[in-house]
Amino acid sequence: MKTMTCKQLGGPCDHQHREQTADQAIKAQDRHLKEMVAAGDTAHEPALTEMKGRWKHPISGMGWYRAAKRDFAALPQD
Ligand SMILES: [Zn+2]
Repeated sequence: MKTMTCKQLGGPCDHQHREQTADQAIKAQDRHLKEMVAAGDTAHEPALTEMKGRWKHPISGMGWYRAAKRDFAALPQD
């Protein structure tokens, strides 16, 4: 397991995701952003908008995914 924070994935807070793979961490972040915004948190709105933009534009969003995967790979195992 590795720990990646909301901030490391482009969000505004220090919420921690503990996941096995970068894809899982990205999905957990997507879920976290949706949950926070649904709960009325406005600080997470820009990050959620960016995340939605990446789903819509997978080619231009690819750079972000690669960076997130590289960051995840560089993290120490918990
Ligand atoms: Zn957060």
